[in-house]
Amino acid sequence: MLGSWFEIALWKRILGALVLGVIVGIAWGPGAESIVWIGDLFVRLIRMVVVPLVFVTLIAGVVSMGDPTKLGSLGFKTLTIYMLTTLAAIIIGLTLAAVLQPGAGVDLSAAVPGQVQQAIPLSERLMSIVPDNPIAALAEGNILAVIFFALLVGVSLLAIRDKGRPVADLMESSGEMMLKITQWVMEFAPFGVFALIARMAGTQGVSALLDVLTLAVCVVVGSVVHLVVTQGFVVIRLMLGLSPLQFFRGARDAMLVAFSTSSSSATLPVTMAVAEKNLGIKPVVASTVLPLGATINMDGTALYVGVVSVFAAQAFGIDLSMTDYILIAGSTTLVSVGTAGVPGASLFLIAAVTETIGITPEQTAVVIGFILSFDRPLDMLRTVVNIGGDLSVATAVANWEGEFDREIYDRPLKD
Ligand code: ASP
Repeated sequence: MLGSWFEIALWKRILGALVLGVIVGIAWGPGAESIVWIGDLFVRLIRMVVVPLVFVTLIAGVVSMGDPTKLGSLGFKTLTIYMLTTLAAIIIGLTLAAVLQPGAGVDLSAAVPGQVQQAIPLSERLMSIVPDNPIAALAEGNILAVIFFALLVGVSLLAIRDKGRPVADLMESSGEMMLKITQWVMEFAPFGVFALIARMAGTQGVSALLDVLTLAVCVVVGSVVHLVVTQGFVVIRLMLGLSPLQFFRGARDAMLVAFSTSSSSATLPVTMAVAEKNLGIKPVVASTVLPLGATINMDGTALYVGVVSVFAAQAFGIDLSMTDYILIAGSTTLVSVGTAGVPGASLFLIAAVTETIGITPEQTAVVIGFILSFDRPLDMLRTVVNIGGDLSVATAVANWEGEFDREIYDRPLKD
């Protein structure tokens, strides 16, 4: 019995748990809250892996590059394509919102204002990339600071050549060790996913979504279009000449975990594991591009923030000019970079975008209060798009840098 459980492909077990979770949640109602600890346990287990995994694999990755100048070209390509794909997501979102008019005629008078949060100024965020204490950065899980320090350690190991070998070897075997732990944690995923989804279905239901159907349609259609067209067709098929189907097959474990946890940073260990195991992305690229992506590349978030901003303008009867759309696109890109990869993070940063088109923070608070109750299902979806974006860009960068294993990518996966 146990043997046949493990014989079923992991993604099928997770998907089964997801469907069962919805059914049990709907039947059980708010009582499903009582099993959420199983889901929280799962999220804690994967979060536990994130910081050590990023730190050791990033150092090992830089050492295996052999040449620090390669880091520059890799970084430049990664950031450029991250920005371009995010911009594509925003344009899709804004176009849909302009055409479908989700906010037209919406009555916000009954909404209880939610909280708005000031975005951390860009200068402060940039400054915090340099940790004043690397151990504190590791302890606090400040990923950008961890990345910065790990890059320095990696480059310094290259600079001291043979003397750096023992530390480099230690990092490499520690990376293997962390990936093994990730694999074990993933075996717990079906149970965690079941509990998380049951709670969501039991406490939120789908009825809340009906209040804002057009907004939800904009987000769902935009997400699917971005996943399939931008990531699957343009990046994977047109730019790389690879099979999009194989890409989504390889990425599915990470996408399912992203969907159930609503957190790209918690999903990171799984994202890195599928990148190496299924998509043929060599560790050098997986360990550098993906942690950065989980922190700054949020296509789904950008699409969502764009749609909600237009929704807010329409609901308050503000006519948007082309300049307004450009302002929204620019500020949304910055907000998506500054959004933490945790559930609901972007929702409270929307004020930074709406302010640029003359919506007051008080008005934004009303909009947030209005959409808060149905945010979770849409958050699940945008997190999947965020993860898809990280993986498609990592596949592209791996190809361009000659760090891609086509055989692994094309290998048939267990279905
Ligand atoms: N939940 C999203 C993520 O972790 C962030 C957000 O859009 O709220 O990727």
